[in-house]
Amino acid sequence: LTQGRVYNFSAGPAILPEDVLEQAQRDMLNWQGSGMSIMEMSHRGKEFDGIAKKAEADLRTLLNIPANYKVLFLQGGASTQFAALPLNLASQEDVTDYVVTGAWSKKAYEEAQKYSKANLSAKGDNKSIPSPSTWKISKDAKYVHYCDNETIGGVEFKSVPDVGDRVLISDMSSNFISKPVDVSKYGIIYAGAQKNVGPAGVTIAIVREDLIGHARPETPTMLDFKIHAENDSMYNTPPCWAMYICGLVFEKLIKQGGLEVQHKLNEKKAKILYDTIANSNGFYSNPVEPASRSLMNVPFTIPSNPDMEKTFIKETEKLGMLQLKGHRSVGGMRASIYNAMPIEGVQALADFMKDFHSKNA
Ligand code: PLP
Repeated sequence: LTQGRVYNFSAGPAILPEDVLEQAQRDMLNWQGSGMSIMEMSHRGKEFDGIAKKAEADLRTLLNIPANYKVLFLQGGASTQFAALPLNLASQEDVTDYVVTGAWSKKAYEEAQKYSKANLSAKGDNKSIPSPSTWKISKDAKYVHYCDNETIGGVEFKSVPDVGDRVLISDMSSNFISKPVDVSKYGIIYAGAQKNVGPAGVTIAIVREDLIGHARPETPTMLDFKIHAENDSMYNTPPCWAMYICGLVFEKLIKQGGLEVQHKLNEKKAKILYDTIANSNGFYSNPVEPASRSLMNVPFTIPSNPDMEKTFIKETEKLGMLQLKGHRSVGGMRASIYNAMPIEGVQALADFMKDFHSKNA
């Protein structure tokens, strides 16, 4: 990292690639001779139009998005999609199915209860994922919703759950573009950008075309997928700056070899931490069963002495490893190691963990 910067293990907003930030800095005052910063440009001008089109095209390349899907750049965070989904796809009387494997899918389920007959198809224990064969899928469910990576619990799906001919919807906020995904298996994939993709302020939704155009009449205009699809995400002023940064990240990932390459790197990084926990003779503990461990968010505790966790966090801060405090609902520590976290950062944390263990065992 550049002198003075830290290894930021925040769950989001999270670390961005340094070369992307440097590019943004070069473009800040005068983007490609336009005399303007992107923040100052009309979203309807040819410059920004080019930026938006390229960002979408690069995302399509990265995820191999089929032609019958729209890519929408939205606002309001992933949380707004929790309401937009039932409003676009169900009536108040329609059944929607939710699989709850942690805090975020629970929030999505609770929001959907306001706008539909949301059914709890399966519930995890924050440590594992109930096998899709045990999910109670309603026969007339408008869709089945799940969260691919639970940011707080560190529970991640390793394959696409089979829900037969039902419309599958996934919240991929915290593992979007961290691995290749077969988009054709989904009705909708959505993600807030501020973890793996770019700055807060833009939410990306990849929506199969046949699911667009069914919003119920009372749906706020800004939540209607059709409005955004018909207007190429420019119905109103889009989050221009955030979209531009996302575009730089997509471009970088393509240059780097795409999502297979990034996924391998993410596996390697996560293995360093999980191995360190496993080889600590129980000094560190991660509650999640090995098959469901997240490559993005690694929670861990010091079960024999929870007071020592505060010391752990203080000492890591002194070494420039920040934001390792676990979520308040889980406690302990959490290392978020999104795409942009360099392997050196993960190794530095693992080395510290070993050192801290040997000094305090
Ligand atoms: N879903 C997941 C998995 C998340 O991690 C988060 C945020 O941390 C959200 C949804 C909510 O996203 P936003 O803050 O963009 O509304």
